[in-house]
Parts: sequence; C-alpha cells; structure tokens
Amino acid sequence: MTYPVITLKRGKEESLNRFHPWVFSGAVARQPENLDEGDVVEVHSADGKIIGIGHYQIGSIIVRMLEFGPARAIDHEFFRERLTAALELRKALGLDRPDNNAYRLVHGEGDFLPGLVVDIYGHTAVVQAHSPGMHFCRNIIAETLVELPGLPVGNVYYKSETTLPFKARLDPQNAYIIGEFDGCVALENGLQFNIDWLRGQKTGFFVDQRDNRSLLEYYSRGRNVLNMFCYTGGFSVYAMRGEAKLVHSVDSSAKAIELTRANVEMNFPGDTRHEAFALDAFKYLADIQKGQYDLIVLDPPAFAKHRSALHNALIGYRRLNARAIEQIAPGGILFTFSCSQAVSREQFRLAVFTAAASTGRRVRILHQLTQPADHPINIYHPEGEYLKGLILQIE
Ligand code: SAH
Repeated sequence: MTYPVITLKRGKEESLNRFHPWVFSGAVARQPENLDEGDVVEVHSADGKIIGIGHYQIGSIIVRMLEFGPARAIDHEFFRERLTAALELRKALGLDRPDNNAYRLVHGEGDFLPGLVVDIYGHTAVVQAHSPGMHFCRNIIAETLVELPGLPVGNVYYKSETTLPFKARLDPQNAYIIGEFDGCVALENGLQFNIDWLRGQKTGFFVDQRDNRSLLEYYSRGRNVLNMFCYTGGFSVYAMRGEAKLVHSVDSSAKAIELTRANVEMNFPGDTRHEAFALDAFKYLADIQKGQYDLIVLDPPAFAKHRSALHNALIGYRRLNARAIEQIAPGGILFTFSCSQAVSREQFRLAVFTAAASTGRRVRILHQLTQPADHPINIYHPEGEYLKGLILQIE
C-alpha cells in the first residue's frame, strides 16, 4: 500500500515522533502538486523514512495523522479497529447501561480518529466530520457503526454542514446515511431527554456536561437554582431531581426554552418548581434581585471560537462571572464554565479571579472541572482539552 508522499523539513518530525497528530503547513518541505483535499498521504521525514499516514487538507493543519508506522488501507477494517476500541472504553466507563444511552463514542484525536466526532443517542449515531478526509469516509464509518458488535445502533445521521471547512466546497448535506428518524428520547443517568439532532445545536445535546450535572444534582438540595444558558435544560433537570427549592432556566433562544420546558415536564410532570425564560443572560443577571439565587450555573457558548477572539472572550467571561458573583446569595455556589478551546485553563481561572476580585467578596474554589472520560484527551495532543469549569463558594 503506498500513497502520495509529503516530505517534512529537517527536524520537523520531532512532534510527530511523540505522536502529536497534526502536521502544520510550515513543516512541509515538498508535496505533490496534484493532491486533493481529503486524500490519504504518507508523511516522510527529511531523510526519507515513513512516519505514518494521514488525511491531507489545505490550511495551517495540512495533515491529520491516522496511523503512525507503515502505510495501511483506510477501510472498513481500519474503522472497525478504532471504533471497537472506542466502544470498549465507553463500556469500561459504564456509559452503556439500561438507564444511560447517551454518550460520545468518538472524540476526534482523543480516540485516534482526528476530524471525527460520533455521539450515540440510543439507536441513533450522530456523525460529524471536521475534515474533508473524514467526510469522504462517511459511508464506511456509517456501515461500520451499524455492524459493530455490542453497539445497538440502527440509524446514522450525518451532520457536518457547519463543521467542515467552508473553503473545501464539499457541499455536505445533513441527512441520514443509514436508517431514519425513530424517536429521540435518550437517557442520561436515568433522566430522559428529548434530543433534536435534526434542528438542535451540535449533535443535539451536550453530553460533555454529564458528570458536572451530577455534581450539580448533589449541590441542589433546598437551593434556589438559576441555570443560565440552559439550552436543553440538562442542568435544570438534574437540579429538580436533586430537590432544589426552585429552578429557573434562562436562554436567549425561544427554541431552547421550549426544549427545556419539555424536558423538565417529561421528567417531572406538573412540578411547579420550574420556570423558564427566553431572555439575554447579561440582562437577566442585571435585573434580578441580589440574593435571589444561591446556586447559579453559567455555561455559555464558546466566547472564543478562534484565537483571534481571545481578548474579547476573556472580557466576556470576566463580566459574566462578576455579575453572577455580585448577585449570588451569601454562601452561594457558582458553577462556571468555558468551552472555548482557545481559552486555557489558566486564562479562564484568571478571568474568574479578576471577576471575583472586582466584587470584593470572599470566594473559594471547591472543585475544578473538566470534560468527562468519553471526551478523552490524547496526552500528546493537549489541544483536545476544551471544557473547563470551577465550582465556587461565595461568602
Ligand atoms: N448548558 C447547556 C449548553 C449551553 S449551550 C447544556 O448543559 O446543555 C449555549 C446556550 O447559550 C445556547 O442554547 C444559546 O442559545 C445560549 N445563548 C447564547 N448567547 C446567549 C445570551 N446572550 N443569553 C442567553 N443565552 C444565550
């Protein structure tokens, strides 16, 4: 098996020898002229030794490595191996249970499949390609998923319209590759969620907050909970089960508020402790009475989608957290998150520190949170770490 060869500049193989899965365009000495985006290529060091194979694309990351070592076919067998290993990990984590069938099966580089994300909701797998190479593999991936022993998936929905590089002109359509819509109630830790992968954000649900929602459930008893940026109401439903005194959910999207109301109603029919408001978070926080809530969740969308937006994002996190810390009741608990990959753990903590300092209140860190184990971080690819959170107590 041979592929077109991309040769690196001298010394540029070092990070690849440590299994970092990306080749940057600046590291390349020579490449064939007729490469197409999504082609499988061999990556060679300056002295002509093969380092591995990967998917080629145009941009600052020019190759995403699929395999280190000799070249091999990127076929059903390749995906069967990787997907089987991914499923084994999720089974070892106990995520595939009668009361839990929503989890991430493939988290890109963290599962040695750069450019690919697969979320499982019961019988449906939602597949997202972030690279042209994975886009071209979508049918093989779908076929492998439905045939994978131990994975009860019959439908594969492909949702890459917004995740593929725009310039690649791949014209992806969001559509079922296999199967069809067959209901969408998934279970997370025994709670039911209506998951709308057809119209919802990302793959329809944020499975990455599962462990943090469980922690919130634990803290909720007897508290007045405010869940800001609630989307499908994940945190709200856990707070209800955790015996919160009341739960208020806020999101600027009317559709999200509808989803939240439906999810709370499905789990706690007729329970009047919950109310939801379609309002801007900053405005809502400015208008509430000081001390009205003693547990606040801030889980905003990524303020920095790119490094260029970092400065403004940090200002955004600072303002938002300052408002919440100012308004929370004495002894209150704040769950605060950033899912911006471009914002480091230290930068986020510094933004929250600055916010706390500006309020003059005494603040302690009780927990430092991250993404759950079904979003593993390849240790050689620290860029895979994106979710950061703090649980604070405010005196
Ligand atoms: N906490 C959610 C995920 C949040 S996603 C969960 O656990 O699933 C971010 C949400 O923030 C989106 O639903 C989006 O509609 C909402 N949002 C974005 N800007 C907002 C604003 N200024 N005020 C309130 N909500 C906002």
